[in-house]
Amino acid sequence: MTAFDNSYARELAGFYTPWAGAVTPAPKTLKFNAVLASELGLDPVEWTADVLTGATAPVGATPIAQVYAGHQFGGFSPQLGDGRALLLGEVIDSHGNRRDIALKGSGRTPYSRGGDGKAVVGPVLREYLIGEAMHALGVPTTRALGAALTGERVLREAGPLPGAVLARVASSHLRVGTFQYFAAQQDHAKLRQLTHYAIARHYPDAATADVPALALLEAVRDAQAALVAKWMGLGFVHGVMNTDNMTISGETIDYGPCAFIDTFDERAVFSSIDTGGRYAYANQPPIAQWNLARLAEALLPLIDEDTDAAIAKAVPVINDFAPRYEAAWTAEFRAKLGLTTAQDGDADLINALLAALQGKADFTQSFRQLAATLRGKDALPDSSALQAWMPAWRARIGEDKNAVATSMDAKNPLYIPRNHLVEEALDAATAGDTGPFEELLEVLAQPFLAQAGKDRFALPAPSDFGRYTTFCGT
Ligand code: AMP
Ligand code: MG
Repeated sequence: MTAFDNSYARELAGFYTPWAGAVTPAPKTLKFNAVLASELGLDPVEWTADVLTGATAPVGATPIAQVYAGHQFGGFSPQLGDGRALLLGEVIDSHGNRRDIALKGSGRTPYSRGGDGKAVVGPVLREYLIGEAMHALGVPTTRALGAALTGERVLREAGPLPGAVLARVASSHLRVGTFQYFAAQQDHAKLRQLTHYAIARHYPDAATADVPALALLEAVRDAQAALVAKWMGLGFVHGVMNTDNMTISGETIDYGPCAFIDTFDERAVFSSIDTGGRYAYANQPPIAQWNLARLAEALLPLIDEDTDAAIAKAVPVINDFAPRYEAAWTAEFRAKLGLTTAQDGDADLINALLAALQGKADFTQSFRQLAATLRGKDALPDSSALQAWMPAWRARIGEDKNAVATSMDAKNPLYIPRNHLVEEALDAATAGDTGPFEELLEVLAQPFLAQAGKDRFALPAPSDFGRYTTFCGT
């Protein structure tokens, strides 16, 4: 039996609606993450397809739909909430960390607005795959516990598609938008309660700060600066950085129209609905800062009773995002380039590299190729813009070229979820064959190690794959 300990349901009455998942015609498990289940102390026997789809709640669960608000593409929605998700409860994992277990696609809730409360197999397995890949790449992220088919056909733009549910694990589902909801209601008592809860759960040191709400803001800022720097180092574009999709914990959440860049392009946008490029690759750091400013606004009443004084305290915290992000970003790319010390010109060196890659070279492969040149391999094309950049870098790295190459290969993945491979795997799964999904998942579990017979997984999309567009029809 799963040892649930549901602090959110217990301590935060008024922050959710108790709810149950929909009963579905023919639940069938597609994938169960046994390794993660064991880390969470779950008994796999209990996690049947009925449980994974939400039709049956496991013993000890208190299924609830959480309420939150959020800025979506800059416009404020005062009430969003779990429109098709349920938080089953929390468990303490084998490292002593509290983790949420939630479902996505488990049916309508009081927060569904116009939506059907459902999810379909492609996007469910996409979130499974990319979350697990991000975890293997060392990025803080929600994870996939399992995925199950519902046996239902769900109508989407492309036609009727197989319905599915994702079971997701997160260190919590607290979002910037959770704070915004109670701030918009001007419910300062609940805002204070939420702040206490978030601090106790994620940043206990903030509890003893002079102004705990300000210390929470600082902690979230630093976690997000570190997270976005990791995204940038991997060429990852989240695609929907709405404030309801930004966690307090600093984990990546809600893999919808996200994608990884092939040929480097700092303006890269993949989501069909992001026509203005609000969430383009290079915009992610300023958007994270913008979202943190929304969190700061929500927290103002707890920072100081006097609004002007509260603003005076919050503004420097938000302004400090930029230097903190820059430091995290520089550290990230230093490691990618095998630099073990910090020097003044490092940011210029990195920016010169990115300028050389822009529109010309595969982002992921380039770093592996640079490492290969240190082993005497002629890995870069002669015409490569990197050739001109290389001498400055070679002069900057340590003497022991093999050691540098080894450290680079431990930092720069050989395998990322290539868009064309993800699409191929999801198309097959939608048609009933999960073989390609399983193979891709397995390759991505060891992203830094060359795997025999898996060469094609390291390659960019063939040119006939064309421009990649992701759809929000999740
Ligand atoms: P997302 O963009 O997926 O983060 O979702 C934004 C909001 O829309 C959240 O409140 C979701 O719960 C809700 N939502 C998304 N898809 C659906 C759906 N099919 N049915 C009901 N609510 C949905
Ligand atoms: Mg969301």
